[in-house]
Amino acid sequence: MKKKILSAVLCVSMAAALLAGCGSSSSTSADTTEETTEEETEEAAEEETEAVEEASEESAEAAEVTTVTEGVLTMGTNAAFPPYEYYDEDEIVGIDAEIAEALAEKLGLTLEIVDMDFSSIITSVQSGKIDVGIAGMTVTEDRLENVNFTDSYATGVQVIIVPEGSEITSVDDLSNEDLLIGVQEGTTGHIYCSDDYGEDRVIAYTNGATAVQALLQGKVDCVVIDQQPAISFVEANEGLAILDTEYVIEEYAIAVSKDNEALLDALNAALAELTADGTVQSILDTYITAE
Ligand code: GLN
Repeated sequence: MKKKILSAVLCVSMAAALLAGCGSSSSTSADTTEETTEEETEEAAEEETEAVEEASEESAEAAEVTTVTEGVLTMGTNAAFPPYEYYDEDEIVGIDAEIAEALAEKLGLTLEIVDMDFSSIITSVQSGKIDVGIAGMTVTEDRLENVNFTDSYATGVQVIIVPEGSEITSVDDLSNEDLLIGVQEGTTGHIYCSDDYGEDRVIAYTNGATAVQALLQGKVDCVVIDQQPAISFVEANEGLAILDTEYVIEEYAIAVSKDNEALLDALNAALAELTADGTVQSILDTYITAE
């Protein structure tokens, strides 16, 4: 049941993008390798404005997109990953839900969110069950072999949760062969820990919440997970702490089928507009407070 959908509100968003052009951080047009004179700075600013104009033109070109269900942007996520996606009573809310809502609106589509295991998201995008995977998903070389990713909209950091007073005080302590490390199945934390410490010491749980429950029950000695969910889990459970050490820094982006370049282009254009007008940052700021 595929049909073409015409994106709306392009004129308005183009104007917004032009006004906010100088604030765009996604342009790569400026040459930063030479000494910068005032003139060059102005030139760079102009080039940057042009880049945003071009992006808006592209969004007009990419206005016709095809989705799995007519008129709907179907998003797959794993709603146990606060503050990016979690349940508020029956509703899935969070940073990704809000960004997806804003993107869908720009594309003239209605958003529908499907909750699934994190490890099923990429295959669901590939098989055409969902249009996009938006799940605090890190861009990796391996995933890029199976799906396309939009430009990044947020940064993630892998951190280590331990019981308060744990003998694990730094990443180096994870080398201790007696320790078991809890992770979420199919995530970058799972992949990095298996590579670095061997699969035998890594226990994968279907989501972050169950990994943290296992830690509370003493089934594992620590949990490696993304920083913002880690903060939420530690706030919600007594007796846990996050080590003051970063394991890996990553970029989050939206997974799109390799067969749907038009949707990828339309999402990137919409994302550039929502970044330029401050919407993405204000959504992030709603859920993530500076420490
Ligand atoms: N950022 C991690 C990854 O992409 C975890 C994402 C998640 O669990 N939702 O693998």
